[in-house]
Amino acid sequence: MSGLRSAIDELRAHDVGRSPDRELESDLVEIERATRSLEVERARRIAEIERRGVYAGDGYPSVTSWLVGRFGIAPSAAVQHVRLGRSLEHMTATRRALEEGTISPAAALLLASAREADPDRFEIAERTLVDAASSLSVRELRIAVDRWRQLADAMSGDEIDARRFHRRTLHVSPTLDGMVRVDGDLDPETGQTVITALRTLQDVWSRSGAADARTPAQMRADALGEICRRYLDSSDRQVVAGERPHVTLTVDLETLERRAGRRCELEDSGGIGSEAARRLACDAGVTRVITRGESQPLDVGRRTAVVPTAIRRAVVVRDGGCRFPGCDRPPGWCDVHHAVHWADGGETSLANLVLLCRRHHRLVHDRFRMQVADGRLVFRRPDGTPLGPAPADRTPVEAVRADATPLATARAP
Ligand SMILES: [Zn+2]
Ligand SMILES: [Zn+2]
Repeated sequence: MSGLRSAIDELRAHDVGRSPDRELESDLVEIERATRSLEVERARRIAEIERRGVYAGDGYPSVTSWLVGRFGIAPSAAVQHVRLGRSLEHMTATRRALEEGTISPAAALLLASAREADPDRFEIAERTLVDAASSLSVRELRIAVDRWRQLADAMSGDEIDARRFHRRTLHVSPTLDGMVRVDGDLDPETGQTVITALRTLQDVWSRSGAADARTPAQMRADALGEICRRYLDSSDRQVVAGERPHVTLTVDLETLERRAGRRCELEDSGGIGSEAARRLACDAGVTRVITRGESQPLDVGRRTAVVPTAIRRAVVVRDGGCRFPGCDRPPGWCDVHHAVHWADGGETSLANLVLLCRRHHRLVHDRFRMQVADGRLVFRRPDGTPLGPAPADRTPVEAVRADATPLATARAP
């Protein structure tokens, strides 16, 4: 940006009163071109700011109101900046023509409105329309765009469908701030399938009647995770080794034992904090890393499933679902939780394992506490008071353990 500033300083230092006509004219050509390139760059940044929701951090409900409040831009101009930002991302030929100075910002806006009306048809016709925009006045272009739309309406629906299908795309990538971004465009059929699946889970959650502080957007995110887990759980998927766990964690034992606060690594999505690692390590594939001092690895173990399949099946048979008081989530929604964490010496045996749904597993690691006392499960609120009768009481833990003698106990990993 300092290059930009010094270029402007150079312009400012120029004594225009002494410039010959030719120089004034060529300067103006250059300035006009630079202005259009800057328009494109501004639009790109506005689109990214809108995508990230930066404006919300300043308390504005939209990027448009943010532009008005923050920079004093007239509302009508702000609306145009935002429209251009959203549109140019999908209008490669238009953006290039604007950058090269062959079309004006006003023409680009006109093309953007044509695209908004019908993105698929616009994509097919973009080059022709950009060519028209480079030779016609804005008034003439408006007439040309109207005519194009009348003609485009006659285009066959099949062709549009094929175009849309071709445009399908999905990106799933870890971001620098430790999240995973999902971003894409789905063809109508796939999109509908995704919407239906997400909505079904959201309906199940809302119907369960339990107080739910999650926003609809958070619920959709949870639903997507749940659907993927269910798929990985399903026995008929065409992949070998379809058994759990689906998440593999590389842990440093000192951290897991709470003797150090280093971060643990998930396979693809990066680092997580030590408490989240303790929760995941209840029921994940774990690659153990023993370190000495700060970071010197002494031993890197093989990846091992913390809860062996046979033991998991036994826990599922015994518990039948989440054992948190009042919860009726079936096993498919559940993780196996260690009452005493294996990192603290707890055994991976039936007596020390309890089925908890993802939500309650998180709660128990987070603020609530769970203990096994006299073969019964006791759940406590953050203030220490016990939660009323657990469905756990159907089957006292110890009673089942006696029946489960063939199962080996395992110290994981
Ligand atoms: Zn756990
Ligand atoms: Zn539950």
